[in-house]
Amino acid sequence: MSDRTAAVIGAGLGGLALAIRLQSAGIATTLFEKRDLPGGRAYVYRDAGFTFDAGPTVITDPECLKKLWRLSGRRMEDYVTLLPVAPFYQLCWEDGFKFDYADDQDAIDRQIALKSPQDVAGYRRFLDYSRDVYREGYEKLGTVPFLHFRSMIKAGPQLARLQSWRSVHSMVAQFIKDDQLRQAFSFHTLLVGGNPFETSSIYALIHALERQGGVWFAKGGTGALVQGMVNLFQDLGGVIHCNAEVERIETSGRRATALQVNGERHPFDMIASNADVVHTYDKLLGDPKGKSLARKRHSMSLFVTYFGLKGERPDLRHHMVLFGKRYRALIHEIFHGHELQDDFSLYLHAPSVTDPSLAPEGCSAYYVLSPVPHLGQADIDWDVVGPQYRDRILDYLEERYIPNLRRDLMTVRHFTPFDFRDELNAHHGSAFSIEPILTQSAWFRPHNRDERLSNLYVVGAGTHPGAGIPGVVGSAEATAGLMI
Ligand SMILES: Cc1cc2nc3c(=O)[nH]c(=O)nc-3n(C[C@H](O)[C@H](O)[C@H](O)COP(=O)(O)OP(=O)(O)OC[C@H]3O[C@@H](n4cnc5c(N)ncnc54)[C@H](O)[C@@H]3O)c2cc1C
Repeated sequence: MSDRTAAVIGAGLGGLALAIRLQSAGIATTLFEKRDLPGGRAYVYRDAGFTFDAGPTVITDPECLKKLWRLSGRRMEDYVTLLPVAPFYQLCWEDGFKFDYADDQDAIDRQIALKSPQDVAGYRRFLDYSRDVYREGYEKLGTVPFLHFRSMIKAGPQLARLQSWRSVHSMVAQFIKDDQLRQAFSFHTLLVGGNPFETSSIYALIHALERQGGVWFAKGGTGALVQGMVNLFQDLGGVIHCNAEVERIETSGRRATALQVNGERHPFDMIASNADVVHTYDKLLGDPKGKSLARKRHSMSLFVTYFGLKGERPDLRHHMVLFGKRYRALIHEIFHGHELQDDFSLYLHAPSVTDPSLAPEGCSAYYVLSPVPHLGQADIDWDVVGPQYRDRILDYLEERYIPNLRRDLMTVRHFTPFDFRDELNAHHGSAFSIEPILTQSAWFRPHNRDERLSNLYVVGAGTHPGAGIPGVVGSAEATAGLMI
């Protein structure tokens, strides 16, 4: 153990991954988490015998997680078990068309051929493109700290070759003609807060990432992954404080010196923040940079409803995307509109399909999320609108996908953009922080090390490479490299 000390503000997955890396390198690390439990967006609710993961449920690139255990010669399998999910997702449209999106080339080809024979070859070309971007954008650049513009210039030729100025949807549309199949291969950016019509085509790499590494679910829920990471950190000697909201980062000259938490002062040699980047700069540092980050485009928010049902629903799949009547127009309203729309496209999480332990015997656990405009864009009083919106979503599910939902409802709760703002200190209640458009990516995102304070770092969704589990775990690798 070296005699250096570090603090990490926030125990989201990025904060935890960074803390594990620092502690594994012999730096005495303390985590301060505002809420009563670690996990951040990967919080867990337990109601009436049901376990509800609050946020991330689709685990991709398990290798990026396994690396965290290997740093100290341990094995992830001794802390948490990952179960494969098949199909990866079931995609459903209102006209009855269904697409089982899986890692089975024959099954994919067969389904595409039935829908649009000309797109079988186009899909193969899209997959080649996606794999190419994955190699360049994820394997080579995913954990690089873009501190200097020259790193951006170095990446320039590859970004140009891959036509990164184009959107994911326009790239998919170049290869695939059928409108619903275009939706099937472009919606993924929504999972990291990106509009498929505006997010750089670099994000088409998510398709290859899933095909390459699979889609997994932690036994016991994503909360079990969080607990496994906490256990690893503590086994390494790390210290974690919950109910410990950092009020201020103290600075002296060009250095961050201490944290103020619950009225007490805690000095450290290095400080990293996993909290929202606007909150970090504006509230914790009082740095004018907070105001300029606040003006950046932020990802949409989400309205999430967690519910438990009596009985099981064997016809559902673990991950389901339920496309509504409109795709492009609805997404435009979510990212640019000022009102809540009457229609929605939903993601339905039905984890009991993979892991029955998340519900009491003979019951099943769910959450359903609807992307909605963030608070900077739409002035919606979610305290009033929330319960009505939740009921509309449950009615829609009952009518189309889960008969007798109301009859069998045992427990329900919801999480609104107000909660993202108030519980997670998220600017505008954004669910994914700064929007992943090209002009806000890599060097253009907040840097993993502050330009002025030489021992202050940031980690998590607001930094490079961005939101999503592999994104924030990759950002922890980039930040840890600088700190260690
Ligand atoms: C509903 C939902 C579903 C998602 N689904 C997926 C998915 O299936 N797959 C996937 O890969 N990604 C998914 N994501 C994205 C992914 O969850 C996030 O990008 C990722 O978890 C964010 O991690 P983070 O490290 O940025 O920290 P966060 O989770 O944002 O955590 C930050 C932590 O900092 C704490 N904090 C804030 N201010 C302070 C303070 N002043 N003092 C102390 N602590 C503070 C907060 O309480 C929080 O715990 C989903 C996100 C949401 C919201």
